[in-house]
This record gives sequence, C-alpha cells and structure tokens, in this order.
Amino acid sequence: MNEHTIRNVVIVGGGTAGWMAAAALSRFLNNGVTRITLVESEEIATVGVGEATIPPLLTFNRMLGIDENQFIRETGGTYKLGIEFAGWGDIGERYFHPFGAHGHDLGGVHFHQLYLRERRRRVMQDISAWSMSAVAAQAGKFARPAEGAQSAVKELMYAYHFDAGLYARFLRRYAEDNGVQRIEGKVVDVTVRPDDGHVTAVTLEGGRSVEGELFIDCSGFRGLLIEEALATGYEDWRHWLPCDRAVAVPSRYHGDPDPFTRATARGAGWQWRIPLQHRMGNGLVYCSEFMTADAAERELLGNLEGEPIADPRHLSFTTGRRKLAWNRNVVALGLSSGFVEPLESTSIHLIQSGIARLVALFPDRRFNPVERDEYNRQMRDLYEDVRDFVILHYKATRRTDTPFWDRCRTMSVPDSLQRKIDLFRAKGRIFRDAAELFATTSWVSVCLGQHVVPEEHEPAADALDEDKVAAAMEQMRQGYLQVEAQLPGHGDFLRHTGAGP
Ligand code: FAD
Repeated sequence: MNEHTIRNVVIVGGGTAGWMAAAALSRFLNNGVTRITLVESEEIATVGVGEATIPPLLTFNRMLGIDENQFIRETGGTYKLGIEFAGWGDIGERYFHPFGAHGHDLGGVHFHQLYLRERRRRVMQDISAWSMSAVAAQAGKFARPAEGAQSAVKELMYAYHFDAGLYARFLRRYAEDNGVQRIEGKVVDVTVRPDDGHVTAVTLEGGRSVEGELFIDCSGFRGLLIEEALATGYEDWRHWLPCDRAVAVPSRYHGDPDPFTRATARGAGWQWRIPLQHRMGNGLVYCSEFMTADAAERELLGNLEGEPIADPRHLSFTTGRRKLAWNRNVVALGLSSGFVEPLESTSIHLIQSGIARLVALFPDRRFNPVERDEYNRQMRDLYEDVRDFVILHYKATRRTDTPFWDRCRTMSVPDSLQRKIDLFRAKGRIFRDAAELFATTSWVSVCLGQHVVPEEHEPAADALDEDKVAAAMEQMRQGYLQVEAQLPGHGDFLRHTGAGP
C-alpha cells in the first residue's frame, strides 16, 4: 500500500456539499488509511433550498450504488425532463429547454442546422417537437428508459427534483455506514501554520480540536476556511447577473407532479416552480436594486399555486466564484466556492464536478502545485461556462417593460459569451470545448426560444435533398409522438415504482 501523507480529511459543513463530499470520498478513499471526518453544527442552518438538478447527478448516484426508487422515495423526489421558460424572450412567450438531444443528425449535418433550413422554407413547429424529453414532459409523461430499448424512448434523458435536506440525510447514512465520522460542533477558530499557510486544525466551541492534512470547506456562503481563514478573494459577477436575493416558500398542490421545472420571468427577476411529491417548491430570485424584500414576498405569494405551507424564507447572495477553489490545503465545495443563481439548476452539479475533479487529482502523497492549479483551472472554466449560459437568458430578451429588463437587455456580456452569440446569430453554429457542460441542445433551445435567430444556416446543410430531409424530420417527430402516447403519466410511474405519494 502507498504510504499516504494525507491520513485525515476534514470536511467542514454538513449541507448538500458536505454530505455529497463525505459519501463520495468514503467510496473512493476506502483504503484503510485515510480517515474522513465531517464537522457540522446543528445550530447553523443549511441554506435549505436547492431542489432541481441536471442529468449528470444520475452518474453520481450510480457511482455510489444508490437504488433510484429508494432515493426518489426517501427524498420526496420526482423526475425532471427539462425546464419550461415563461416570459423570458418576451411577455406571454414560452419555450422548453429539454435534456437530451433534438432529433438526429442526417448525413453528418447537425439536426438543428436542418431544422434552420426547413424553417426558412415553411412554418415549423417549435424545435422542442423533436425532443423526446420535451414531448414527454409537455404531456406530463415519464418512464425510465429500459436498457437496450429500441425506440425513441432511449432518448428520454432526465434528472430529479428532490428535497436537498432529505438528500443530505440520505447521503449521511451512506457516508456514516462507510466509516465517515461525524462530529457535532461549531467551529470557532481555524489554525493556520505560519510557514506554508496550511490549515492544520479547526477548533470547536468547548475547545475540542480537529486536526487534518486536507480540509474541505463546505461551510456555505461565508467560506469559513477558504475565505475567513485564507482570504482567498471572490470574483463578483453581479454586473452580469444582477439578481442578489431570493425568497422561497413551499406550497401544497393537488394532482400529479409535472416532470419539469418552470422558470417564469417577472419584473425584476424570475420565479421557480419545482414539483416534489409532497410539496411544490417555489421561490422568487430578484435584484434588490429594483425590488424590495416586501414587494418580492408579495409577488411570490400572489403567484403561488396552492396554499403556502411555511413562512417565506429570505436569502441574499453574491453571484460569483472564489478566486481559487483550492487554496493551500483547503478545497472549497458548494456555496463556499461560488454561486450562480439556480436558473439552470447547476449548483449541485458544481459540487459533483468539484468532487469528481478532487478525486481525479487527489493529493495522496503531497500537495503538488501542478495538480492544484489544474483543479483551479478546470473549476474556473466550468463556473464560467455556467455563468455565460445563465447570462444568455437575461441578455437575449425583448422585454422592455421594466428598468430591470432594460438593463439586462442592454448590458455588455463576457467576450466568451458574445462570441458564442455572434457565431449562432450568423449561421447557427455552436462550438463546445470538450469539458463544457451545456450541450448543443441547450444553446439551441435558449437561443431560438429567446429570438437569437441565425441569419443563415451552415452551407453543409444544403448538400442534402430538401424533400428527403423534410420526410425524415416528419418521421422522427411522429416517432416521438408514438412513444409519448405509450408512456405512463409521471404520477402513475412514481406510484408504480413504489416511489410515489
Ligand atoms: P449550506 O447548505 O449553507 O451548508 C453549510 C453547512 O456548514 C451547514 O451544515 C452548517 O451547519 C455548516 N457550518 C457553517 N458554519 C459552521 C461552523 N462555524 N461550524 C460548523 N458547521 C458550520 N442548487 C441546485 O442544484 N438546484 C437548485 O434548484 C438550487 N436552488 C437554489 C436556490 C437558491 C435561492 C439558492 C440560494 C441556492 C440554490 N441552490 C440550488 C444551491 C444549493 O442550495 C446549494 O448548492 C447546496 O445546498 C449546497 O449548499 P452547501 O452545502 O454548500 O451550504
């Protein structure tokens, strides 16, 4: 066995980030040498929101060997096939951002290029008519694609809605069963070694000290270690993403849950609607420069489906990222490493990605600056990808009804995003770096949904016979409708798999 210099990994914080890290590390560092300890304080609440996810979470759960039905049952979960955006391109408009692909490429030409060409010839349905996930979602249907399925059902790509607090509890059990030691206590002091600036211990109220060689900061927005102890610095992105507050309230609803999230643009922000089994998650994300907390609460409660079942919770945040996600011997995960508002449900994914990269670059013998820099580079790129994609929703609007939307519509955006918008506007081209999170479908959905319409299509699309393409596209569309007709309702599926209410 290797001689490990890192024998003690200390995770500070037991929210979603802390318990995801504990569960995953207990699975990967199960070497009989590395001890994993998680310190959390029941006195300090978790952020208490965070209910919608994206498909890579399936990989995380599978990697842990989690049974999906049990997971859905224990977290109040439902299935999610995408996000419906209402009022973003303009008031009264809607579009769907599905998981999975749009149609099939033909003759080596991207499907969306063929769609763009067809759209110039005749009136076409929305591109979401060529997405299995969108077609099923809009019909309120869901089924888990069986392995080896032959029909378009295998294109059904999904994620989950769940209660993040219950998920953390679920993972806690997993982690503790795998040997993670949980210590209840409030961290009141952090010891930093003067010669290299490494954190060596955290001290709890009452004087107990917890020592370690690697610390994972999952303490939430305040960044107890990464910021308060190491003064790493924060890049503020509010000039691009000006929303800085949220108010959240659950409500009781009747009927079966929709298998999608809805994000409805409002005068100074937007409202989420996330159906869980036992409640609807609702919240308004808004910009405090244009809206007071009282007005936000009124707007949220005035647009609620069903009656509220708790008092509204107010939260504030600064969109941006920690300048280094890994500084010295501290790796920040979750809200302590940064925050991009939940419009595309990416925060839990950023935690998962941070964990995956930490496992891949784990410093088992010593801290190698090359590995740390690589981690920071990859996490920076990922945060910036998410940032750019979320900014696109604000920038690409025709809304002129409020000063908030005027500001969003007219703001300048990062060069990395402007380049993407310009390329799409010219000929609908999308180029992604290998590690980029959002796929072509995502960019096409939001751009077309919000009027970033290409002036032309790629010349390569013209190489294919128009009538044959039109016939093939119609066949695909009919195929999606036929599969949808055979799918069970989402509520029926949940009940059938023993996971429903
Ligand atoms: P927290 O939940 O804040 O946990 C911090 C932990 O640190 C707690 O256990 C606390 O007890 C502990 N702690 C803090 N200080 C101390 C101390 N001194 N001593 C001991 N322990 C301490 N994400 C999504 O993926 N999808 C969504 O739909 C989504 N919606 C969101 C909506 C809003 C409005 C916000 C603000 C966030 C949303 N998120 C969403 C993000 C998601 O909530 C977080 O990414 C996730 O919950 C992780 O939080 P965390 O574990 O980093 O921090």
